Amino acid sequence: MPTATDTPFAVRTKETLDMLASSGQTKVLQTLDSPMDAVVTMIDDDGSKHDRICMCSNNYLGLANHSDVIDAGIEALKQYGAGTASVRFICGTFTPHHALEKTIAEFMGTESAYTFVSCWNATEALFPTVCEPGDIIISDSLNHACIVDSMRLTPVIKKGVKKAIYAHSDMDACKAALEKAKNDPEVTGQIWLITDGVFSMEGDIAHLPELRKLCDEYGAYLCVDDSHGHGVMGKTGRGTHEHFGMIDENGKSQIDVFTGTLGKGLGGGAGGFIAASQDLIDLIIQRGRPTLFSNALPVTVAASANAAIRTLMNEPQRVQKLRDITKYCREQIKNKTSFDVLESPTAICPIIVGETATAIAMSKKLLDHNIFVIGFGYPVVPEGEARLRIQMSAAHTKDHVDQLVEALNQL
Ligand SMILES: *Cc1c(COP(=O)(O)O)cnc(C)c1O
Repeated sequence: MPTATDTPFAVRTKETLDMLASSGQTKVLQTLDSPMDAVVTMIDDDGSKHDRICMCSNNYLGLANHSDVIDAGIEALKQYGAGTASVRFICGTFTPHHALEKTIAEFMGTESAYTFVSCWNATEALFPTVCEPGDIIISDSLNHACIVDSMRLTPVIKKGVKKAIYAHSDMDACKAALEKAKNDPEVTGQIWLITDGVFSMEGDIAHLPELRKLCDEYGAYLCVDDSHGHGVMGKTGRGTHEHFGMIDENGKSQIDVFTGTLGKGLGGGAGGFIAASQDLIDLIIQRGRPTLFSNALPVTVAASANAAIRTLMNEPQRVQKLRDITKYCREQIKNKTSFDVLESPTAICPIIVGETATAIAMSKKLLDHNIFVIGFGYPVVPEGEARLRIQMSAAHTKDHVDQLVEALNQL
């Protein structure tokens, strides 16, 4: 086993880590010692404990620490044990998986749904499974990293699948990409179009009605990863498609394929899903490598996620509460601080500060004022566009926002 400090790996890794440290870009793992909630207990490097307002989690609806969500997990742990010890198709499908998938399909307005240990996993299963040679995947340039990687992987597994990227939310560029695909003699199969519903770094949303129209015109399937939109967007929190009224009177949504996470607004535990037609889901069950060769979602997590979505369906007012506190937060930052916050209908409130090191330094200072907001820099966002990303939760109160404003003013 090589232990030398002069192997190629050792040398280049030290260089990378030193470079990050000397330029102030090292990400520090902050340690929490309490449930995820509006206020969390943090343990600092010196061992000291601090209660801080957490404004960087994806716990949009405040369900992560909800008693029903916790109880469902405990019950499932008692009833079914620690896990499946199996992939789904061997002996890893339990009653709570069926219950959760039924809930997701109902919530999303699709025929069927299937779960994975993460949305990353779900997305990695999607394209390499549904695509065949002669297909093309067309993607927004700001789509989530899991979509980027799934698109990279697909032609490796299925030679002859093409891909195209259009400039972020540019509908002319999107139409041009579809037109090009239509006239491409190598594109003999299916056109797939994929977009984030809510774009996580800007907090802006996809133009879903226009995309629907374009997809219909070109016979393309419209796939939406609405991980930051489920539980947040639309009157009842269905997602960005509900925001645009793309649900018919029977509750069926006008999106062909959803991918999403159970680790954000929908409970904050973990897990991901594909929600789509029965045939598409059946194909995933038969052929999707990440489900054929990797363990099922833990049963306890499935039970908690199901309770979280059911809670949201029973208490849609949580969504309005999130919207109200987010509006208050935007107004207060704009009116009471010298900072500007990007406008959007989502619960993501980014303050652009420029350099990665600046964002990290500001985030560190805010901790001294007991505010926990993470600074994002390169490579998560483009160089020079580093930001503090404030994320609101229905668990936050006006008092929490006022404390944030006071801290921002002391920076
Ligand atoms: C957070 C996020 C994911 C990842 O979800 P996991 O379940 O944590 O893998 C995927 N896609 C988008 C758009 C996201 O925002």
